[in-house]
Amino acid sequence: MNTSQYIELEQKFGANNYHPLDIVINKAEGVWLEDVDGKQYIDCLAAYSAVNQGHCHPKILQAFISQANNVTLTSRAFRNSKLPLLYKKLNELTGFDMSLPMNSGAEAVETAVKAARRWGYKIKGVEPDKAEIICMTDNFHGRTTTVVSFSTDEDYKRDFGPFTPGFTIAQYGDIESIKSKINPNTVAILLEPIQGEAGIIIPPDGFLKQVQDVCIENKILFICDEIQSGLGRSGKLFAYQYEDVKPDLVIIGKALSGGFYPVSAVLGNKEVLSLFDPGSHGSTFGGNPLGASVAIAALDVLVDEKLIENSFELGGYFLSELRKIKHPLIKEVRGKGLWIGLEMTVKVRPICEMMKDNGVLCKDTHGTIIRFAPPLTIKKEELDIVIEKLKLVLTHFN
Ligand SMILES: *Cc1c(COP(=O)(O)O)cnc(C)c1O
Repeated sequence: MNTSQYIELEQKFGANNYHPLDIVINKAEGVWLEDVDGKQYIDCLAAYSAVNQGHCHPKILQAFISQANNVTLTSRAFRNSKLPLLYKKLNELTGFDMSLPMNSGAEAVETAVKAARRWGYKIKGVEPDKAEIICMTDNFHGRTTTVVSFSTDEDYKRDFGPFTPGFTIAQYGDIESIKSKINPNTVAILLEPIQGEAGIIIPPDGFLKQVQDVCIENKILFICDEIQSGLGRSGKLFAYQYEDVKPDLVIIGKALSGGFYPVSAVLGNKEVLSLFDPGSHGSTFGGNPLGASVAIAALDVLVDEKLIENSFELGGYFLSELRKIKHPLIKEVRGKGLWIGLEMTVKVRPICEMMKDNGVLCKDTHGTIIRFAPPLTIKKEELDIVIEKLKLVLTHFN
């Protein structure tokens, strides 16, 4: 079958909830993708940062295969021999006392919402069913009905109400706006330390520290969604580490499995996560041995191959090279680590299409922003190809 035949099948039988570039990927290795016609592309999206370790990483693949040969799913009705090792690894790597494993990112966000509400009632003493969580403008935390309840993007919400109450919106990056939303029922502030889907929006320096201070003053939990920003993407293990803060809960997913399997988790200290008791929360697949094995290997690869350091260093190089490009339609180039938003004054979809034709895959976000987020295994020579292709493509858009 060729590209157009695959696309035809997909359009005929699949729900139309995405608008992908018209390329049908058949194979991948490291930063390289291959389509059904055998054409090669450099991946500059890394599955929204789920494949920070590169596609089909051999060490993660090995863990995946050998675990699949042993046992894949026990359910949490029984214990398995891999989950305890993942708990230990997460504790050693992140410094948080405990973690709670889930599958998708949105499920982990839901878990953090539950944790914060329970803490609000049991520890802070908020009256039953009154807990409020402050979320940010232009946030992205997933697609479940509760999570879209606090989205500010109309496309995510239209025709999906009624929505879950208990959330208020403050202006991202604006501590005064946050303060104005606090009341005695506020149990948590939930934010992305850098907003990925919004277009790599970096808050003002010191913002996270201000948020943490406000949380401490008002006895509120500080929750960071690091599903996209975390695990090396921003050039640090966690993006919150650019400031001197330690959130109460950190949500991770995506690259936690290196793209092999949906694995997510909420990290936190005992004071909060120990409030879950048997029967209060769960997931059939959450904490399964296949996911746990893959996650352990994915974290090992991140550390052993110094991918976080590579993200920091090559990200700085990439950003400075992009900033050298003089082009009338470029509005701003911003980023941290290998996570860069190139904002233009026009819609960038046609640029992404032409980049694809030139062997580089990147995707627009919010119409006018190209997000560059290659696997963190990318080499300088490969990045140079991306930069050269971008320069070439941009000459067609004057
Ligand atoms: C992708 C993402 C999610 C949702 O993760 P899913 O696995 O798609 O449910 C939540 N928060 C952030 C910041 C994300 O980037």
